[in-house]
Amino acid sequence: MLMHMFCRKLLAITLRAVIAFAVLAPSAYPQARPKPPKSVRLYVFDNGIIKDPDVTRFHFKKEEIAVPDFVVCSYLIVHPKGTLMFDAGSIPDANFKEGVTPTTLNRFIATKTLQSQMAALGYAPKDITYFALSHYHGDHIANSNAFAGSTWLVQKPERDAMFAEDSPVKDQLPLFNRLKDSKSKILEGKDFDVFGDGTVVIKGAYGHTPGHQVIYVKLAKSGPILLSGDLYHYREERFTDKTPVFEFNGPQSLASRANIEAFLKKSGAQLWIEHDLQLFRGLKTAPEYLE
Ligand SMILES: [Zn+2]
Repeated sequence: MLMHMFCRKLLAITLRAVIAFAVLAPSAYPQARPKPPKSVRLYVFDNGIIKDPDVTRFHFKKEEIAVPDFVVCSYLIVHPKGTLMFDAGSIPDANFKEGVTPTTLNRFIATKTLQSQMAALGYAPKDITYFALSHYHGDHIANSNAFAGSTWLVQKPERDAMFAEDSPVKDQLPLFNRLKDSKSKILEGKDFDVFGDGTVVIKGAYGHTPGHQVIYVKLAKSGPILLSGDLYHYREERFTDKTPVFEFNGPQSLASRANIEAFLKKSGAQLWIEHDLQLFRGLKTAPEYLE
C-alpha cells in the first residue's frame, strides 16, 4: 500500500514536471535572438519599388521636377538597450502568397515580406521595443499592426489625424488600427532621445503630414545619418521650393526642411531620402548593416 502510494506520488511529480516543462519550454528556450550589440546598428529592409510612368504628375505639378522611379524601404535600429523599427512598408506581409513573387499592390511591387527579412536577422515583431512611422501615408504603414506590442513613438498631430472621424487614411485603418491601444509615447515636435544617450533621436518635421517625423542615428563607424522619411521624395527636390501637390501644409514643410538642413550642417549627418532609389542601390541592405 505504502509502495503503491509512493508510486502514485512519483507519477504525479513526474507528470507535473513534464507539464511544467512543456509550458515553460518555449520561453525557457527561446528562438535564438541576436545578443544586443556593443554599438548601434542600422539595418535597411527592401520593401519594393513604385513604378509608374505618371509618377511625376502624381507628386508634382506636371513638369515642375523630372523624377525617377522610387524605392520603398524601412529601417531597424538595434541599440544595446533595445530595438526601434522605423516605417513598415507598402504591402502587408499577408498579401504575399507563398511561392508567388513579386507581389503587387496598387503601384507597388515587392519581392520580400518585411517579417522574413527580420527573421533572417533573428528578430520577430515581438522583439521590437519601439515602433515609429515617418508618417501615415500608405507606402509607409502596411505592416504597422504587427508592431502593436511595441511602444509607439508618435507625434500628437499625426496620431490625432490617423484616428480622426474624417481621417485622410480612413480606408487604411485596418492596417494600423491596433496602434490605437499600443503603449505610446506621444511627442509634440520636440526632439526625443529614444535611448537616452543621444545616438537615436526623433525629430519633428511637420508639413508633409500633420506630424511627420525623422530620425537621427549616430553610428560609431559610419557616422551620423538622418533618416528623413518623406521630407523630400527625390534628391532633385532638395534646394527647391517645390513640395508635392498633396502636401498637408507646404509652407510648414519648407520651414521643416530649413530646420533640418541647418541641423545637417551642424551635426554633419548624411541625409538619407527614404525613396531615393539611387541612394538605396548603393546601401548595404539587410542582412548586412551599418554600425
Ligand atoms: Zn512615401
